[in-house]
Amino acid sequence: MTGEDDIFDPKATEERLRCLQQQLLVGIALGDSLVNVMTALCNGVEALAPGVICSIVAVDDNGRLKFLAGPRLPQVYADAVSGITVGPEVGSCGTAIFLNRPIETVEIASDPLWADYRSLALPYGLRACWSCPISSAEDRVLGAFAFYFREPRRASAWECLIAQECANFCAVAIENSEARTRLNNLAFFDSLTGLGNRATLENRLGLILQHSSETRRPVGIFHIDVVEFRAINDLHGYAVGDRALMQVAERLRSIAGDCDLVVRLGGDDFLVAKTASSGAFDVEALAQEFVGGLQGRYDLEGGECFSIKVRVGVAQFPLNGKEQDELLVRAETALRRAKRSEQGYAIFDAHMQLEQHRRRSLERDVGLGVERGEFAVVFQPQVNAKRGTIGGFETLLRWNHPAHGLIPPTDFIPVAEAKGAILGIGAFVLREACRCAAQWHEKLRLAVNVSPAQIVRSDFAQLVRNVLSETGLEPYRLELEVTESLFIQDDATASTTLRRLKDLGVSVAIDDFGTGYSSLSTLRSFPFDRIKVDRSFVADMVHNSDAAVIVNSVIGLGRAMGLRVVAEGVETKEQATMLRRAGCHELQGYLFGKPLPAENYAHIMRPGALLGRRDRSTAI
Ligand code: C2E
Ligand code: CA
Ligand code: CA
Repeated sequence: MTGEDDIFDPKATEERLRCLQQQLLVGIALGDSLVNVMTALCNGVEALAPGVICSIVAVDDNGRLKFLAGPRLPQVYADAVSGITVGPEVGSCGTAIFLNRPIETVEIASDPLWADYRSLALPYGLRACWSCPISSAEDRVLGAFAFYFREPRRASAWECLIAQECANFCAVAIENSEARTRLNNLAFFDSLTGLGNRATLENRLGLILQHSSETRRPVGIFHIDVVEFRAINDLHGYAVGDRALMQVAERLRSIAGDCDLVVRLGGDDFLVAKTASSGAFDVEALAQEFVGGLQGRYDLEGGECFSIKVRVGVAQFPLNGKEQDELLVRAETALRRAKRSEQGYAIFDAHMQLEQHRRRSLERDVGLGVERGEFAVVFQPQVNAKRGTIGGFETLLRWNHPAHGLIPPTDFIPVAEAKGAILGIGAFVLREACRCAAQWHEKLRLAVNVSPAQIVRSDFAQLVRNVLSETGLEPYRLELEVTESLFIQDDATASTTLRRLKDLGVSVAIDDFGTGYSSLSTLRSFPFDRIKVDRSFVADMVHNSDAAVIVNSVIGLGRAMGLRVVAEGVETKEQATMLRRAGCHELQGYLFGKPLPAENYAHIMRPGALLGRRDRSTAI
């Protein structure tokens, strides 16, 4: 140091301080860490103001101190400061933060504020302290900036000024860092559940896989789906749905305790990745834990309670693939299988690989099937329960795929819906069925299944009007079968379109009744003409009294509301007898006739045909 430098020049020092702050601001802007910036500030200020020892602490929401920087303070001291709760007599910084004003301690050894803490400071030669609270623009206290001195003394006016300047600067840095954390949380955390999100997944899964391939430990990827969660939102509102999801996430977090990654993919989809602790991995046990722990009854604070069902699909690294995207697709394929399984989870296997391959080709081809003439309609009779006469036929779609053969509609309708091909296919079914029915001699009713997307996403009423006029089918003969899920998707559009259809003279049936969440409210939302009791209840009713009770009450309800009731999936005489006794109007099922091409029913579609005993047995 030259003699000139020794002469204290407040103006020049302030200028240098400003320079220092400017440098640090650049650091902040470039994303330097808060601790680095604060440490650099301390170093810079200590160089400008010889004899001071800088310290910067932050305070958390619970009033606990967190040591940020103090390069000349011993680590033991820094460690001891972190975690202390601020209060009216908690050293200089704890008190300055608590009272939100500067606190001067001329003699740590005797100041009562330091009664509990002087034994921490004195051994390190810290004798006096000037502490200045760090406050945000809205006067929220964020921490404290302090000068310690090695002898008992007051801070000079200039030192007080510098401390205040530094405190202001710290406020900017801390607030910036908080904002960064919040932004980061927004980008990488799901704000509802606090879990990671899709961006976290993108960011982390690759690293997890890379690490585990180095350590040669397998990774399990669990795709978890809450079944029909949407209905909870619909029934109870989004606020309740959100709280339910938070609870699901909470349970998931505790089950997934030591997993490497737990994210919410969006909606009611979650994903967990876990690296095995050794070379082998019992993914099945963990999948069971997820199902067992997440599924069941949830009680919310508002008094609502409901039961939640989950499904888990599992893929394993490296067994099922090495690439992140491939593994995610496989976990999803397994999830689709899990949705059809009793146990609630499925682990990707070679068989599913074929299934995935098949699904890919269905996805690719479903949009071309109509053009290629691969789709055909079949008809299944609906008979009057009392008289045994045929009241009408339900149209069911068949896809004969060139490579995969006959594909059931339960497999390809969801694919067509997902791929946007359902509109074209739906129009084909409608046209084809109406064309056939218009040729029947007997003016029997014709039922056609309609997907929600057809009703919500197109001018469906117009299409129906066109097809009726093209084919010449009388509107009263056409009945459209819709499911409850229609009302879950878009209640208003659904009701408007259905009303327009009814205005055309077409009737509307509610299909698979009783399987949804909101059967009763669905019934109230639209004046249906017919209820179709789902075949799962019919299948169980003979041996399961609960199913029998449901069937009976649905029939009772339908009758009370003046609706016709059809039972589907009637396979045995016993079922038919029970249904008849319960007052069901019509029966449909293999007992009376399988879904078959129109030619097979030509004899029935002739005028005056009855379904006699002989027909019934041969039809199956
Ligand atoms: P769904 O509307 O409930 O149709 C009744 C299903 O039950 C048909 O299956 C039918 O073959 C089957 N079934 C009839 N009687 C019996 C029985 O006695 N026992 C048993 N176990 N099953 C019986 P399918 O043809 O495989 O159709 C499955 C589902 O695919 C239909 O369920 C419907 O939701 C959908 N679907 C079929 N055709 C179309 C269509 O043209 N458009 C739309 N959007 N969906 C369709
Ligand atoms: Ca149906
Ligand atoms: Ca049905």
